[in-house]
Amino acid sequence: MRRFWRAAAAAMGAAAISATAAAEEIVLIHAGALLAEPGRPAASEQSIVVRNGVISSVQAGYLDAASVAAETDDKVTVHDLREHFVLPGLIDSHVHITSENNPKGRLQRVEMSDPDRAMLGAGFARTTLMAGFTTVRDVGASGGDAVFALRDAIARGDVDGPRLFASGSTISVTGGHGDGTQGYRDDVARLMHSTGVCDGVGDCRQAVREQVRRGADHIKLTATAGVLSNTAAGLEQQFFEDELKAIMETAHAMGRKVTAHAHGVQGINAALRAGVNSIEHGTFLDNESIRLFKRNDAYLVPTVLAGVTVGAWAEDPDSFLLPPQRAKALTVGPRMIDAVRRAHDGGVKIAFGTDSGVSRHGDNAREFALLVEAGMTPTEAIRSATVVAAEHLGEYEKFGSIAPGKYADIIAVDGDPTTDVTELEDVDFVMKEGVAYKTP
Ligand SMILES: [Zn+2]
Repeated sequence: MRRFWRAAAAAMGAAAISATAAAEEIVLIHAGALLAEPGRPAASEQSIVVRNGVISSVQAGYLDAASVAAETDDKVTVHDLREHFVLPGLIDSHVHITSENNPKGRLQRVEMSDPDRAMLGAGFARTTLMAGFTTVRDVGASGGDAVFALRDAIARGDVDGPRLFASGSTISVTGGHGDGTQGYRDDVARLMHSTGVCDGVGDCRQAVREQVRRGADHIKLTATAGVLSNTAAGLEQQFFEDELKAIMETAHAMGRKVTAHAHGVQGINAALRAGVNSIEHGTFLDNESIRLFKRNDAYLVPTVLAGVTVGAWAEDPDSFLLPPQRAKALTVGPRMIDAVRRAHDGGVKIAFGTDSGVSRHGDNAREFALLVEAGMTPTEAIRSATVVAAEHLGEYEKFGSIAPGKYADIIAVDGDPTTDVTELEDVDFVMKEGVAYKTP
């Protein structure tokens, strides 16, 4: 019975995508509790009316289907979430959608084709959507143009997945964290060369322009070394100031925001001084970093889940980490949560991000409990994955809350996540742009 209902709902979803003009597709949601804008109080017994994928109104009480149909041939689909807690679709600002760490990862880098990566990413995208994440930002994808093809296929409705924003290749120095060819034989490494690897001002301008040409929505650079690159190169700054400035100016001139992977404090502060819009990880940030974050109106995307994941691998003598990775994981893993605590206490804006692809896709919501452990309230943690994350993307007028004129990106859980944030680890209802992908 339930399976039949899902199939019917999926068929209606497909119809919603292909429908043009004519009769309107109207969706009516009855929400037992509704957190329309995280940060403001939830309201009980609300109705959400969705027309052609966009929220048209939010009203108190449970409206009946006939009252929301404007024309007699309008089709009204009702979702009964009277026993549920309804909130905006979640946003993850840091994923790697075309890959997932596993013991065969290094071999797969030379075995998998770009189409293989796209197909793998399609599976991860579906898993991520089903976990309640209706928008994600990819910050460095394996597989050439696979991530752009996946983004566009999701936007067309050919593939089920979250709305995807993509950076393409990471901008990195030769041998740096985003290079990725460390430890391969030289001829293989040359074949693996990424368009994002650059040294010196002119080369780095070109690398940024190359990502924009390929279709990048934003630019990701690796300001410092990182845990999972196979080099014992510490965790500090890798780009020089002139290179950072060149990357920033080139990206901004082409209308792209820049985010910097950074662990070591010199690298964090150099990237902020050069004008980055956000910092990923931020493990060793200090008071000067906090001052620079606020001066630049920049965001921190903490990814505590990645720290916990690599920390656990490092403690496991049988895990697949290589010696340099293990040493760095032991240093970084346990420290990430303190960075969130310091940044939050210092008033830095925090956008929710997980580094999924390091951890498993679909486990994204585990980050919420970690943010709460770091001192955020459950409501602040939810806000970081909705309102704040949408502002960080510069898209808050389109999504990030449940309000008229915005996309109907709506999820539901069966308990109150503002008292127990782990409720978000088990999402029962997922709608993106008015299409229900998962129902209770
Ligand atoms: Zn990452």
